[in-house]
Amino acid sequence: MATVAQLDHRRLDHSHLWHPFTQQRDWVGEEPLMITGAEGCELIDADGNRYLDGVSSLWCNVHGHRHPLIDGAVREQLDRVAHSTMLGLSHPGAAELAARLVELAPPGLERVFYSDSGSTAVEVALKMAYQHWQQRGGQHVRRRSFVCLEDAYHGDTIGSVSVGGIELFHSAFGPLLFEALRARPGDIEEMARLLTAHEEELVAVIVEPLVQGAAGMITHPPGYLRAVRELCDRHGVLLICDEVATGFGRTGTMFACEQEGVSPDLLCLAKGLTGGYMPLAATLASEEIYESFLGAHEEYKTFFHGHTYTGNPLACAAALGCLDVFEQERTLVRLQPKIRLLGDLLGAVAAMPEVAEVRRRGFMVGIDLGEHEPGLRMGHRVTLEARKRGVIIRPLGDTVILMPPLAISKQELRRLVGVTAEAIRAATPVAKLDPNARGRADAALLEAA
Ligand code: PMP
Repeated sequence: MATVAQLDHRRLDHSHLWHPFTQQRDWVGEEPLMITGAEGCELIDADGNRYLDGVSSLWCNVHGHRHPLIDGAVREQLDRVAHSTMLGLSHPGAAELAARLVELAPPGLERVFYSDSGSTAVEVALKMAYQHWQQRGGQHVRRRSFVCLEDAYHGDTIGSVSVGGIELFHSAFGPLLFEALRARPGDIEEMARLLTAHEEELVAVIVEPLVQGAAGMITHPPGYLRAVRELCDRHGVLLICDEVATGFGRTGTMFACEQEGVSPDLLCLAKGLTGGYMPLAATLASEEIYESFLGAHEEYKTFFHGHTYTGNPLACAAALGCLDVFEQERTLVRLQPKIRLLGDLLGAVAAMPEVAEVRRRGFMVGIDLGEHEPGLRMGHRVTLEARKRGVIIRPLGDTVILMPPLAISKQELRRLVGVTAEAIRAATPVAKLDPNARGRADAALLEAA
């Protein structure tokens, strides 16, 4: 039973909050689930119920909640200073983290510029790339277009929306956006045609390497990223890799770019950077880009960009703690058998008659339920069924997303996939399905468990 105080918070939410990506009319029709605690890979609600965090609290938790090492790092920093500024001052955590990120990142990325979210990491990269060419001068000042991928998602600020491609999120803002050229994901011929035709007016190509997360986990064919890098080199265009979702182990390696031996000119990081503790982002740049911003004060080649909480010391402490855990717990080594187990478990889900397709790369999973009436909110129904069974997931339309913390145990992983399968079954109208297909899927699920 909820106490009066807890009920009050729910009422206050309904009376005063406006939630992101949420139709508020639907929201106020449902009881909000108030999360008041967490432990490991579980979230705990106001009534003490526990839920497996199946989407890593919006794709950012890495080592579990309340990890003692990261908690300790933040507490220690709190005893020194919570916030100062990176404008005109510096601090040890920001400097140390920059050095460690440069060491971990693909070769050639030498400079770290902090901001606060994935969107701002991308916004910074777009502005840096544009200003870089302006400062190179000559013919380069004509460069003002970007190439992005269809169905891309790079954030919600106007610049990152301009290079996005998700119609539903972006169409309302059409007149406010700058123009970008769009290539079909995975189609290297089309990318080559665009770069050949527009070479002299292009600032950069921007891609989510290997997996387009918010598009519903669309995966690119092997070799695509490498081929895009080669095209950018051939045509003298910059490459921006947005690893906001794929970074920090999600695809099985620290960064997705590593899998194709690619170094972008600009790399965008956020989400998992602090282990999912604090808002912090980083845009890593090549020395060549950095150097084009050097000059006498009165040349004004300065990068005129920076947010109040840029490089916040508490967030940097969390990020350093997160990197320490990667080393101490050998997170990436221990992840590999779990990726294999996840693949096996999902084989059975893919065989379910309710499921059109399962797309996966490492710990990034999209279970596509096929075409349903939008009003049915099939993806959302699945998440409500999962919640009843103690698992938190969040869909993208009618694609159910699984993106657990890297620290999840094998037992929890089995539970996550098992409950998701049950939830899909409970939410999907049975009448449309072939009973024999359901029998076959049941057998496959039993075998995988
Ligand atoms: N880029 C990618 C690839 C993302 O997946 C996201 C968020 N899902 C963003 C950028 C935006 O990040 P944020 O929500 O932190 O602004």
